[in-house]
Amino acid sequence: MFSVDELKAKFRELYGREPFLVRAPGRVNLIGEHTDYNDGFIMPAALEYETRAAVAPRTDRILRVHSAKIGETAEFDLDDPAPQPRRDWTDYVFGVAVALAGAGKRLTGADILVASSVPVGSGLSSSAALEVSIGYGLLAAAGLPIDLVELAKLCQKAENEFVGMRCGIMDQFISCNGQHDHALMIDCRSLDKRPVPIDPRARLVIANSMVHHELASGEYNKRRASCEEAVRLLAPVLGPIRALRDVTPAALEANKALLSDVTYRRARHIVSENERVLEAADALAGGDLARCGALMNASHASMRDDYEISCEEVDVLVDIAQKLPGVFGSRMTGGGFGGCTVSLVEAGAADAFMEAVRVAYETATGLKSTIFACSPQQGVGPLEG
Ligand code: ADP
Ligand code: MG
Repeated sequence: MFSVDELKAKFRELYGREPFLVRAPGRVNLIGEHTDYNDGFIMPAALEYETRAAVAPRTDRILRVHSAKIGETAEFDLDDPAPQPRRDWTDYVFGVAVALAGAGKRLTGADILVASSVPVGSGLSSSAALEVSIGYGLLAAAGLPIDLVELAKLCQKAENEFVGMRCGIMDQFISCNGQHDHALMIDCRSLDKRPVPIDPRARLVIANSMVHHELASGEYNKRRASCEEAVRLLAPVLGPIRALRDVTPAALEANKALLSDVTYRRARHIVSENERVLEAADALAGGDLARCGALMNASHASMRDDYEISCEEVDVLVDIAQKLPGVFGSRMTGGGFGGCTVSLVEAGAADAFMEAVRVAYETATGLKSTIFACSPQQGVGPLEG
């Protein structure tokens, strides 16, 4: 990761002047997977892994951005009347500029350098960290006020419309609104958020399976289509439902015959996951770590069997974790088909847990997992120093 001094030095080398600095975190989701685009409930926390942007305004209408990770510089004209996606990393950057401008923000040109410690494509949301750091940086460069809920929505719009990934609001919202030492239980319909403190008797441990299967974005959009189909087929009998958020487990069971087996199982994951998030937030807030862990285990089983978004390596990693001493629960986190797991572990057992997972996963798969215990951070803001 670039330190503040390294970031400034690299910026001077590239652009010959002084920047201001912004940071935006990646995230881990404790529970509530794929529920965000169903108007449901999620419980993410912002991570120490973050994207850092160095930014200086320009007097013209050009955006110039350099990614240290990619080792490339790209340019974009804010006055381009019909901006087109280039189908590469720059879409996450210029898509945000397009979304902000579309919302009436009068941006100025800027020189930008981004560096990131968020692993790419691991389910920890490097994409949202990039979008949010850029959005915050562009608004600050133009001297405009920053509303963190609006910023999250516009970054999501950029990913939906310019990148073409139909993600929900989770990643951008937590990168904007994360709270130190807390997870946030978020209602994705109202965007109300409830901070849930991480019990000091427990640690959140993230383990990377080190695999990422390429079907991720295509399958993601397909899952979303299945959820929409379930709503369309259930609406005639259930009345004015807008999303699977409005369907209870009992109503789904009673009307199972209206859905194909696959659509039913997709809907069952969402409907049951929403209930698990609500219960997990109460359990964590009330110090019932065992119950919270059991709900995380149930969430993994539902993602694996009903939503079918896990994969062999991740299942191996979760199986290893769930059997170790001091573990309350373990599940895949993020969009799926690889990426990371999150485990809730007794604080005193965390070091031994991480070592045991590392050894057992390598023995089982030949892959070396990177594993760390995280402590939740604040959302986007200026980077001091
Ligand atoms: P995730 O968000 O889980 O890490 P995604 O597939 O949603 O995975 O987003 C990853 C993509 O985001 C990368 O392929 C790249 O295009 C872009 N990206 C993320 N971080 C950076 C960065 N620091 N520089 C350039 N592109 C980045
Ligand atoms: Mg992403």
